[in-house]
Amino acid sequence: MKYISTRGQAPALGFGEAMMTGLARDGGLYVPETVPQMSAAEISALAGLPYEEAAFRVMRPFVAGFFSDDELKTLLARAYAGFGHAARAPLVQLGPNHFLLELFHGPTLAFKDFAMQIIGQMMQAALARTGERITIVGATSGDTGSAAIEAFRGLSNVDVFILFPHGRVSEVQRRQMTTPSEANVHALALDGDFDDCQARLKDMFNDFAFRDGVRLAGVNSINWARVLAQVVYYFTAAVSLGAPHRRVGFTVPTGNFGDIFAGYIAKRMGLPIDRLVIATNQNDILDRAMKGGDYRTVGVRPSISPSMDIQVSSNFERALFDALGRDGAAVQALMDGLKQSGGFTIPPAAMEKLRTEFDSGRCSEEETRATIAALRQTTGELLCPHSAVGVKVAGEHLGAVPMITLATAHPAKFPDAVEQATGLRPALPARMADLFDRPERVTRVPNDLEALKTLIRDRIAGRVPA
Ligand SMILES: *Cc1c(COP(=O)(O)O)cnc(C)c1O
Repeated sequence: MKYISTRGQAPALGFGEAMMTGLARDGGLYVPETVPQMSAAEISALAGLPYEEAAFRVMRPFVAGFFSDDELKTLLARAYAGFGHAARAPLVQLGPNHFLLELFHGPTLAFKDFAMQIIGQMMQAALARTGERITIVGATSGDTGSAAIEAFRGLSNVDVFILFPHGRVSEVQRRQMTTPSEANVHALALDGDFDDCQARLKDMFNDFAFRDGVRLAGVNSINWARVLAQVVYYFTAAVSLGAPHRRVGFTVPTGNFGDIFAGYIAKRMGLPIDRLVIATNQNDILDRAMKGGDYRTVGVRPSISPSMDIQVSSNFERALFDALGRDGAAVQALMDGLKQSGGFTIPPAAMEKLRTEFDSGRCSEEETRATIAALRQTTGELLCPHSAVGVKVAGEHLGAVPMITLATAHPAKFPDAVEQATGLRPALPARMADLFDRPERVTRVPNDLEALKTLIRDRIAGRVPA
């Protein structure tokens, strides 16, 4: 299986290289050259399997040639062993034809664990073959950072640096990043918002001397391996509700477009998905783009669903690449427009293609709180604010086809917002009840590329024996 860049200029890579590289050297994102197909019989056969076995069958064609079947099975077994639920991704019913896919039973209580735990295992296995060491730098709106730290803490051949926007993540999110005591973990609070963190990360990847010098590897959702791991739960959830014999829809609380793009890949593989509904909070660039055809940044307004406080939705580039007939030059031209003037108009033919795949909706702050309160009353479920954004938007798209809304984080990760809406303060699961007692370790950093590069080089030099 080969992976190609959405901007058409970087070399095609195999799975292992695409995973270790993250961002392509032409600034694009890697996508599979062709999407492997699963037949109706193969999809049917997923029914009732343990999550890890279903993951093996879905992911196998994408990693073939890099991991053997036995290796992949071993890595998957390790990746999901630390989850707090035997089903890994259980479904619960919210109402007639509306279901919630709980993706928050991993070690850091958000869906990011599904991808990060397996990518941690896969990168470790790849490094063990060559004896190399790498530097992981990640930008986070809150949940990616803790999931990455959890996946890589304590490894001798990996340093993990996480940039998060100072003062803009929840206390639970921050503590999950600042309390691990391992020397290879570096939590960096950046003076800026998430888009600044993401922009500095991209700058580092585009600085080839630095990138090669520290052996930079990325684990943000621009990393294809992340998307791949998330394809799995679209299959397991749909099959639980009768796929491939029955179609299902999905509503996905969306920020960087990684999670919902995984649903799109599942559909391209043959899973009969009816609609994929993009749900945004008040930072609604994707909803505006889908409705008006203009993808334009307007600045981030902090919300009670902070993991979706994003204005440049990186993975949208992957969907655009397909909608533009896989024309890398056309993608590059639009992205140049974004850089130069803060936006671009999506060509009408591409817009039409996007609208055949995706619907969209937005949820205000007030609607988010009202949805948390309403669901508590009608179902007894406590939703995190991100999941509530999904549930609200899904409510506008319910019909004859079963709808599955993705619950992306545990309510206890955002206790203030949940308490404000319901009067109830959700408790952390027992396995992390001491989070507020552990000492924190964090470095405040300016929004400045050179300063960041220096800090990272110094920290690594301090850790690697001369
Ligand atoms: C990351 C995150 C999202 C958004 O996911 P994307 O893949 O960036 O669209 C939504 N909810 C939570 C809780 C998250 O951590």
